[in-house]
Amino acid sequence: MTTNISIFKKELKKWYANNRRSFSWRNTNNPWKILLIETLSQQTQLERANRYYEQFIDKYPTPKHMANDSKKQILKLWSGLGYNNRAMRLHETAKIVAKTGFDNLYPDFTVLPGVGPYTNSALLSFAYGEKVIAVDTNIKRILQRFFKIKDKDIKNFLQANQDTFLHRFESRDFNQALMDLGATVCRSKNPKCVICPLEKSCNKFITKNSQIQPKFEGSFRQKRGVVLKILLSKDNVTKNVIQKELEATSEITLRVLDSLEKDNLIKITKNKYIVINDK
Ligand code: SF4
Repeated sequence: MTTNISIFKKELKKWYANNRRSFSWRNTNNPWKILLIETLSQQTQLERANRYYEQFIDKYPTPKHMANDSKKQILKLWSGLGYNNRAMRLHETAKIVAKTGFDNLYPDFTVLPGVGPYTNSALLSFAYGEKVIAVDTNIKRILQRFFKIKDKDIKNFLQANQDTFLHRFESRDFNQALMDLGATVCRSKNPKCVICPLEKSCNKFITKNSQIQPKFEGSFRQKRGVVLKILLSKDNVTKNVIQKELEATSEITLRVLDSLEKDNLIKITKNKYIVINDK
């Protein structure tokens, strides 16, 4: 497992160095900015959330600016994002943080309205540099696929291996790299395994390919290949011999022979033997 984790980290780091998405808040450790983007990007694509973020941070550069504004104004700026309750909770949070300050709540921000375990981890990682994995659906999906972990076991897996994952890997970079990989390559539907940096060692990729293999084994194309092999190694081959070798029905055997004949690869002699057509 440790070897797999090392490969995983090495490939991920390399990929992230060349493929990281660039956003203004990516290098900040300002907890307000982090809270803002994390709230805006819930159930929303990051690129879209980022457009809202730029407007929000412009109007509300600190929690105090938002705390002093009206709900109506916040909802106006939020318009189009949906889930308006989140805007309301953000307003409440801004009021609390404006009074208390983030540092006085550290390390447990879940007392703030709308802040759950994920946002708490994101704040700890991005604003406070803690060695914490911010486990969102992207990160879970990639780890589950790569290490072949069942849903029910992912929590224990992360608890047991968090330190190894984050050894000599900044948690900010680790979390952001996985978010980017999950959004662009290891997507929930149709993951782009062929361009994935983790493809060589990924369990999902290996399993997927080993599932494709049996299909090929039984495929029409594979049966044609078997017939040609038989004809190259044996004489006086009849349809029954081929059917037996193929372990196929009479109908399928005839279809295979018919297609080879149409392609001029085989021919049937007067004695009903099947031979390679070498003309
Ligand atoms: S190989 Fe495919 S399933 Fe595995 S991590 Fe990459 S994209 Fe995801």
